[in-house]
Formats: sequence, structure tokens, C-alpha cells
Amino acid sequence: MNSADDQRTMHLATVGMGSNLGDRETILREAILWLGAQSGNRLRSCSSLYETEPFGKTDQGWFLNCVIRIETSRDLQGFFHGLQEGEDRFGRVRRERWGPRTLDLDLLFFDDAVYSDAELTVPHPGVAVRRFVLEPLCEVAPDLVHPSLGERASSLLGKLTESSRVVCLGRPPVREPY
Ligand code: ATP
Ligand code: CA
Ligand code: CA
Repeated sequence: MNSADDQRTMHLATVGMGSNLGDRETILREAILWLGAQSGNRLRSCSSLYETEPFGKTDQGWFLNCVIRIETSRDLQGFFHGLQEGEDRFGRVRRERWGPRTLDLDLLFFDDAVYSDAELTVPHPGVAVRRFVLEPLCEVAPDLVHPSLGERASSLLGKLTESSRVVCLGRPPVREPY
């Protein structure tokens, strides 16, 4: 690292990932490696894979979900645009124009930022009410305090009444060392 890098402000972003179409595990793995290799980004943690019942719209296949944490020198907007680029890159089945999306990247937290505009709300509004987010989140960051609710991830999971099925597969899509 040179002295210019040393002086950059570093941030910690927490990203929820999901896929329910195609080779879900390979898509998640390749997207994680790609995100971690983007300029300014470094992968810091990766949860196990969780196989999860679709939430809301139930007439579709089960998801694979995981939560990752990325240290980044990008600012909030720059990091979010990188996630959108990742969705564009990995998120469509190529066989079919307008084919279904195979990758969802949700920005759950960015440090303790509380922010909302027309395209981005952080923390992601679904965090506190989704088992498929809270279970992998608690694996990588149980003590993370939700900046607007003031509660730890472990406490939010403990209080959750939502009971959709979430099965931990016991293996991460990407293994250490990162
Ligand atoms: P949900 O956001 O409820 O999980 P979804 O992931 O299916 O639903 P998308 O179609 O992927 O929804 O995204 C809809 C819009 O949400 C995107 O165009 C994006 O601009 C916006 N958005 C707002 N906040 C966030 C965030 N924190 N992370 C990702 N997208 C966000
Ligand atoms: Ca989502
Ligand atoms: Ca999304």
C-alpha cells in the first residue's frame, strides 16, 4: 500500500446476495470474487450458503443466499454502483433476452450510514424482517448494531417472528484465505 492509499477513508459494506436460477452457487462465487477484485474493494468475510424458501412471491424456485462483508475505499454511491454493475454482469441468463435475473445484490449496511434517495436506502429496509438475511448476517456479524433501530443483528434474529424455511448448507461459496 502506498501513502495515498493509507490516507483513504476505508468503509465496511455488508451485502446480501441471492440467486434462484441457473448454477446458483457458481454465480454467487464468481460474483463475490469479482466484487472483491474491483478497484478499492477487498473481501473481508463470507457466510455459509443458505437455501431459502422464496419470500413474498412464492411461485419460484428456492434461493441460495449468503452475506458478505467488503472493505472498500469507495464512497456509498460508488460502492452501490459497483453492486449494480455486478448484477448486470452476473445477473442474467444469457440464453434468453430479458431472461430472469439470477443474481440479487442488496446493500444491507454501509458502515453506520443512514441514507435514502430515489435509488438507494441504507440500511436496506428488509434487513430486520427477513430470516434469509438475518441468519447469514449473524454468522458474519452478530454484534453489528443496526444504525437506525439500535439493536444488534443477533437480537433482531432472536425477536424475528417470520418463519420461512432457511437451511444452512454449512459451506461458504468462497473460502479463506481471501
Ligand atoms: P428488495 O429490495 O425488497 O429485496 P428486490 O431486491 O427484488 O427487492 P430489486 O428489483 O433488486 O428489488 O431492486 C429494486 C430497486 O431497489 C433497485 O432499482 C435499487 O435502486 C433499489 N434499492 C434501494 N435501496 C437499495 C439497497 N440498499 N440495495 C439494493 N438496491 C436498493
Ligand atoms: Ca433483494
Ligand atoms: Ca435487489
